Order: sequence, then C-alpha cells, then structure tokens
Amino acid sequence: MAMAAVRAVAAGGPASLSRFRGALVAAVLGDCVGGEFEGAEEVPMESVLQHLNSLDDETKGNGILEYSDDTAMARCVVQSLLTRTGFDEQDMARRFAKEYSASPGRGYGSGVIQVLKKLSSPQLSDVYQPARDQFNGRGSFGNGGAMRAAPFALAFPDLADVKRFARLGAMLTHSCSLGYNGAVLQALAVHLSLQGALDLPQQFITRLITEMEEVEADEAARNDARILKEAEKPFCERLHRVRDLMDRSKVSIEEVISELGNGIAALHSVPTAIFCVLHCLQPRECLPENYGGLERTIAYSLALGGDTDTIACMAGAIAGAHYGIEAIPQSWMKCCEGAEDADMNAERLHMLYHQLSQGGGSGTGEKSCELESESKSHTSNGTEKKDEAE
Ligand SMILES: [Mg+2]
Repeated sequence: MAMAAVRAVAAGGPASLSRFRGALVAAVLGDCVGGEFEGAEEVPMESVLQHLNSLDDETKGNGILEYSDDTAMARCVVQSLLTRTGFDEQDMARRFAKEYSASPGRGYGSGVIQVLKKLSSPQLSDVYQPARDQFNGRGSFGNGGAMRAAPFALAFPDLADVKRFARLGAMLTHSCSLGYNGAVLQALAVHLSLQGALDLPQQFITRLITEMEEVEADEAARNDARILKEAEKPFCERLHRVRDLMDRSKVSIEEVISELGNGIAALHSVPTAIFCVLHCLQPRECLPENYGGLERTIAYSLALGGDTDTIACMAGAIAGAHYGIEAIPQSWMKCCEGAEDADMNAERLHMLYHQLSQGGGSGTGEKSCELESESKSHTSNGTEKKDEAE
C-alpha cells in the first residue's frame, strides 16, 4: 500500500498532466513493442525481456518500431476530439477512412477494412450503417473499438460522457454490444485510473463491475449475449474472474489465458488487459526487480501471447494513467513511432478535459444523443458467432 501511495504522488494528483501523457504514450508503446509477438501462441518471458532490453541499444534508430492500426485509429480519435472540441461521428468516421487509405498496411483486420472503405464513400449518409451491415447484420465484437477507446477518457471529465462517446466511437466499426461495450469498459478503466483509483485495486475492480452491471443491463447487450451464448452479462462475468485471479497469491500465464483469453474479441482481451495492470501493481517473481510497474505491465502483457499489440496497448493506457509519464523509460519511448506525437497530443487533451470540466460543453453531444437512441434499435442483431475480425 505504501508503494502505491508513493507512485500516486509521482504521477501527480487526479487528472494531472503526467497521467494524461503516461496514458497516451504508454498506449503507443504497448502497440509498438507488442507487434513483435502478435499472433504468437507461446511467448517465453525470456524472449520478451530480450526484446525490451534491445530497446536500450543506442545504435537503434528513432521510431524503429512502427505502430499498427491500434495507434493509427487512436490518433484519428484524438485529432477528431481536439478539432471538434468534442465528439463528432461524421468527422471521426472521415478520419478513419482517410487514415486507412493513406496508410493501409498497418495490420487492419479484413472485416474492418470493408467498413473503412464504405466510410470513405461521399454518398454515405449514415456513418453507423457500414458497421451494422457487418457479418450479415450481426456486427463485429472484435477489440478494434476498445483499442482506440482511451482518448475518450482523456477528453471527457464526466463519466456519463466517457461511456456514451466511447460507445458511439466504437460503433463506427463495431456494432455488436460485445464489441462496443469492450470499448466502454476500456475507457472506464482509463478514466478511473486517471483519478488515482488504482491506489485501491479492490475498489477499482468493484467499481468497474458496478459500472458494467448498468451498461450490460441494456436490452441490446442482453440480446447479443443470449444469441452468442455468453453469460447474461459477459463483461461483468469476466471482471469477476479478474477479481478471483487477483485474490490468488500465484497464478500462471496459462491460467490467465484460459480464464480471460488473449484473442481479438473484446471480451477476450479487455478484461485481460485490466488484469495485467492489476497483477503488475506489485513486483512479480518472473519479472526483473529493476522494472517499475509500467514496465512490468507491458512485459507481462506481451508474455501472454495472442493479440499482444492490442492487449499491451490497452494495458499501457490504463497503467500509464496510473504511473504517469515519469515511469516510461526514455529509451522505449525513443524507439516507438508516434510516441512523441502522443506526448504532445496528451497535453492538448489535458487542456480540453479541464476546459470541459469547467462547463465548456462537449461539442456535438446533443446530436450524438439522438444517434445513440437510433443506433440502439439496430444493434440487437447477429445470429452466429464466427468469422470474427476486428
Ligand atoms: Mg494492431
């Protein structure tokens, strides 16, 4: 407990600039360093540490590790929120499409590529329609909405706004509730971490469960869970598993993977990322003693294998909001493409957040409200669970 308190001071108080910078930069780091192991079934910790140690090599060039779709899309979210001083679905959709056509080789999933191509059509009137049409009208439950959700927590101080806009932002590509509710959960975790809530890990997880209880009480969510044969409230059920694993003194990587997953479905990766952060709040036997909490979190996320770039990106955002920018090794930052940009954008988001917290309004919020209720009627679809892609 004493250690957690010291760390919180280092990161500054709730919603400090250091926390904003930590969140956005560590998300980029997770994506860039995680690319090395993406899709690997087994990743020995030794390989992870070797990879991370190699980042200290001075002879390596700046930005040698390229970011993937996770960061490419998160950058669009950030630019849109900053330019529109709030959420504007038209603007955000346009940016996603433009970014994809400018740089298509960032590892996008085949499903989302179809959506992004449709979003670039000038004839398109409803920007939510291409995502709704996915997978025979069932929509995607991949983690592509969650991987870019952190900026919503960094722009909006109000919890209701964080939930609402993270959901709508995800629905531009992921219309299944098991996709967009993953984004809501990720944004909630960053929001709470930004307030210093990880100083009390048990209360942190309890709060997430309470919030998701309400989110998953939604009619569309219940319907999707039933159709996909998941638990009644799938994310809540997974968060209970996270809490059970937290309570155990020892837990193997294999157990984490089998209990929580490491795949491209939001349900099999967002709770996993949250667990990585919680598990690494304390020193762990399998990780170097000289590692701080943020380094432990990134290393541990990679060792799980599977969708490593996205899990490390999401865990990085939550952990970065807790430990602050000071916890990020300079050498890691230097190696990652887009890390410096993220640092500058974090400062701008910090200003927007404090502007909105003083009653500056939230952009096109009213319009988004209408769209949200309209979208609800379209999300209770989907009949099978297969062919999933982010
Ligand atoms: Mg990726």
